[in-house]
Amino acid sequence: MRWGGDAQMAKAAEEFSELSAECARELNGQADREEFLEELVDARIMLEQLAWHITDDALEETIEGTLDQLADRLGRERPEGDDVE
Ligand SMILES: [Mg+2]
Repeated sequence: MRWGGDAQMAKAAEEFSELSAECARELNGQADREEFLEELVDARIMLEQLAWHITDDALEETIEGTLDQLADRLGRERPEGDDVE
């Protein structure tokens, strides 16, 4: 595996699933704000941890390309200082 270990990858999958469940609860009107925020933070931390292991420029290039596409789709300019570095 190129980035992270199997245990870290499994934990990331678990945390993303928990956030997904909280999003579904939000849509169903069953959300608990504190639990939602907790899972949002858990998922964000795992996302950051996974990104630590990517040392080439591919991550930043992919993020920049995706943000450019999103701005195009929305018909907006990206705000100043919105670049990822
Ligand atoms: Mg969690």
